Amino acid sequence: MNYDQAKEYSLIVPWKTTTCSRGSECLCRMIVPVEPIYYTNLESDNTYEYCVVGNGVLDQTTAEHITLLHNEHCERVRKETINSMIVLNEKEVEIFEKFLTNKYKKIVRKEVD
Ligand SMILES: [Zn+2]
Repeated sequence: MNYDQAKEYSLIVPWKTTTCSRGSECLCRMIVPVEPIYYTNLESDNTYEYCVVGNGVLDQTTAEHITLLHNEHCERVRKETINSMIVLNEKEVEIFEKFLTNKYKKIVRKEVD
């Protein structure tokens, strides 16, 4: 996965806030995907963890607010997609399930069976 793919993928998965290397005493909070996303820099061939918002950019309140809004949006999209799940084939369901919380996995399995 390259940087652009990591960025695109990050927009459909839940985020969380985290402290920078200075710890919780620092006023800033970073935003990262709950499940780490790794991308490869083709020029150097190094692998990095994708970060939605880096250190020193957002204060804790703003970072948590943005993260909450994003996660609520993701959940709405998941619910809408589940409603149209029946048109997906087994392979597509399998791929999509990776994006779902356990709560919604049960619903999807029921519909597929
Ligand atoms: Zn900081």
